[in-house]
Amino acid sequence: MKKLYGVIGNPIGHSMSPAMHNDAFKTAGIDAHYQPLQIKTEDLPAAVPGMKAIGISGFNVTVPHKTAIMPLLDEVDPLAQAIGAVNTVVNVNNRFIGYNTDGAGFIRGLHEEYGKSVLDKRILLIGAGGAARAIYYTLSQQGAILVDIVNRTAEKAEQLKTRCPYPVNTSILSLQQAETTLEKYDIIIQTTSIGMSPKVDEKPLSLQRLRPDAFVSDIIYNPAKTALMKEAESHGARVQNGLKMFVYQGALAFEKWTGTLPDTERMEKIVIEKLGGKTC
Ligand code: NAP
Repeated sequence: MKKLYGVIGNPIGHSMSPAMHNDAFKTAGIDAHYQPLQIKTEDLPAAVPGMKAIGISGFNVTVPHKTAIMPLLDEVDPLAQAIGAVNTVVNVNNRFIGYNTDGAGFIRGLHEEYGKSVLDKRILLIGAGGAARAIYYTLSQQGAILVDIVNRTAEKAEQLKTRCPYPVNTSILSLQQAETTLEKYDIIIQTTSIGMSPKVDEKPLSLQRLRPDAFVSDIIYNPAKTALMKEAESHGARVQNGLKMFVYQGALAFEKWTGTLPDTERMEKIVIEKLGGKTC
């Protein structure tokens, strides 16, 4: 019988996950369908047992349900618990188990582009929201040595640091401190929404002191090249956008559901097509 997978969120109409996963199932020869499911916040407690009743094999979770779904699951993986968000649910013998593949997806994509391990590098994380939490906790869990954080609201960065259950060397910096000590960092990870379309000229900070051998990873993928990435390139640095993070969070979910990693190059092409052909 055809297996059923999906993604729950609200809104969900613009999600690129159905195209990416339906093609991956077809390419892998797996008889399955991946369905976008729009679920209102107030309907989530009824929707989760409903999905179990219809025998869904697994699903992704997106805004606004990533945190609210946690108490409705049978089990939550410790990393997802620390992050405080679930983006992937696997049905194992009728038990829903929640994971978070956002951080691991980001690190896979960064590693692929950077070309060597990032864990022993000096990293500056810009932002302290949901995406930053997934990236910071996963980097720490995987053994990153130094990850400093700069965020508009310093208390949120402090919270990120103090609640992290994994050991990592972290200082919380003001915007000015980050800008003036930028030459210290090998990798800059930009996780705020600043620079996202339509406000494409905005940047979270100045990269004047960026080293030419540094690497700047901006998790935004619309536009394909943010103002921050353009400035980084003007200093000779290498850059990447958030496309690979998106592809790999999906690929790692697919691997949890099926036991095999899909063809990520093919997934990336589908997402680029969906974005109108623009890549950085
Ligand atoms: P979030 O939880 O709302 O966090 C937003 C972050 O941006 C916070 O650090 C916030 O700072 C900062 N910020 C927002 N507006 C700002 C402003 N005007 N000035 C300074 N800082 C500002 O959002 P999120 O879920 O982490 O998502 C953040 C971005 O990542 C979005 O652009 C999203 O599309 C992108 N994203 C990409 C992927 C991917 O797969 N590539 C996955 C997830 C998210 P404060 O703490 O001070 O409010």
